[in-house]
Amino acid sequence: METLLFDAKNPGATDAVAEILKRGGLAAIPTETVYGLAANAFDGEACANIFKAKGRPGDNPLIVHICDMEMLSDVVSEVPEGARLLAEKFWPGPLTIIMKKSGKIPMVTSANLPTVAVRFPAHPVAREIIKKTGLPLAAPSANLSGSPSPTTFQHCVNDLMGRVDAIIDGGPCSVGVESTIISLAGERPVLLRPGYVTLEQLRETIGEVELSKAVLEKLGEGEKVLSPGMKYKHYAPKAAVSLVKGSSEKYVNFVNEHAGEGVYALCFDEEAPVLKTKTVTYGSEFSDAEQAEHIFEALRELDSLGATRVFAHSPKITGVGLAVYNRLVRAAGFDVIELD
Ligand code: AMP
Ligand code: MG
Repeated sequence: METLLFDAKNPGATDAVAEILKRGGLAAIPTETVYGLAANAFDGEACANIFKAKGRPGDNPLIVHICDMEMLSDVVSEVPEGARLLAEKFWPGPLTIIMKKSGKIPMVTSANLPTVAVRFPAHPVAREIIKKTGLPLAAPSANLSGSPSPTTFQHCVNDLMGRVDAIIDGGPCSVGVESTIISLAGERPVLLRPGYVTLEQLRETIGEVELSKAVLEKLGEGEKVLSPGMKYKHYAPKAAVSLVKGSSEKYVNFVNEHAGEGVYALCFDEEAPVLKTKTVTYGSEFSDAEQAEHIFEALRELDSLGATRVFAHSPKITGVGLAVYNRLVRAAGFDVIELD
């Protein structure tokens, strides 16, 4: 398949992408979280092609992106009170809300679930494209299934060239990790995936929110999962990755003792100068937002540098750090080394 490449800065680019989507095609588009691989959410065949292009398991549902509240009433059967409060505070923005779906959402889009995940993105290019198509767009991350999510145009090109109809450049993503996902479809609100909108902020807005066990821990064989995406190995570079917990001092000493060929430290900016191994940094120890912005780029960089063994320093698990930890512990296949 020929993949057309666009730059959102050029006149006519978003119109051309909207036309491709209206015709049932696939296009990778920028959002503030990560790039998404978009298709018409109402078109089952187009959505089935998203799964094919990404190599995504068919039981992992897609997030549907809207550009106004009118579209919301088209994709869900009811809007719970909590969703109204959250939408008022965090939309447009990096928050996905799971609600009961409307009859217009095909089974492939929601992977046979009676619910649908909905987000109203803030990125101007994403919003423009949704508006121009006049359709809600199903869009999971625009990477090959299993590899780190794409936060730049080049990441999408690397993964999807020849597999999709179009890729449009809207610059690097500012948030860097996928949206926070909260389910309001059950009896109690549950945080299924942490992101830039934090658990603390959600609780301030709607009261008690449960933290799904799958956020921090590996699920046991046969355990019920609320968010199918959480059960797959994810975000992993080719190297064997361990997530190391402990103070900077202990981390640096530990890694220096394990220096060797192909060994890399995935560390905070402040630690790089005192490490004896090669390093890839993912932001300051003191900025969880910076860590989120850089984590996927850093994981991809380890691959391009040929790392074979990686010791990643664990972030704190409060605020946005919970999202960074959630991605890293999956990249490490839950291999955690405790130094304390
Ligand atoms: P991605 O866009 O690649 O980050 O994947 C979307 C994420 O949303 C996956 O982890 C899915 O499991 C989750 N998701 C989408 N729809 C639903 C739903 N109806 N119920 C629970 N999780 C969902
Ligand atoms: Mg994904």
